[in-house]
Amino acid sequence: MRIEDVEGELDRILLTEEEILTKLDELARQVEEDYKGKRVPLLVGVLKGAVVVLSDFAKALNFHAEMDFMAVSSYGHGTKSSGVVRILKDLDADIHDRDVLIVEDIIDTGLTLSWLIENLESRGAKSVKVLALLRKPDAMKVHVPVQYLGFDIPNEFVVGFGLDYAEKYRNLRAVAVLAKHVYS
Ligand code: 5GP
Repeated sequence: MRIEDVEGELDRILLTEEEILTKLDELARQVEEDYKGKRVPLLVGVLKGAVVVLSDFAKALNFHAEMDFMAVSSYGHGTKSSGVVRILKDLDADIHDRDVLIVEDIIDTGLTLSWLIENLESRGAKSVKVLALLRKPDAMKVHVPVQYLGFDIPNEFVVGFGLDYAEKYRNLRAVAVLAKHVYS
């Protein structure tokens, strides 16, 4: 979906598709370098948000990319995650002795991600690294190592490139701050 299709619903554009794809390309070159001579890492996406980033990142890689997906839900309601996570869909692959690269859309508090890293490590993965397109300042509060980062963004609610508001805007070709009137 193009920006002009929902222009009246957006406050401002933070990142265009071009900027995002350029960055994912740069990150792909780094990943290729870091995993040179090793078995290709398993790309793990957390549904649903990471699907768009994982798809574009995988296409930017110049080696075969294996992909797998998990769906998780945080216990507790409200806008802040609690850090207690339930697996709704588990990986298909056995990750014992595999290098795993988690691909994330955004890190907010980092609670979900730090749980996930621990969970995948406990299954005997050889290594667990993280690629995230976006990171908010709150992520600094819990230490989550991010080896491949796209952009640090302000502490505002954003949509697009996999991120939704009530299941909408996931397929927007940009990352944008929603206009206030959309919430009310
Ligand atoms: P946390 O890092 O707080 O455990 O959770 C991160 C998750 O919260 C993301 O995967 C995403 O689903 C959601 N989230 C955090 N910030 C935003 C945002 O600005 N916009 C949207 N649409 N989702 C967000």
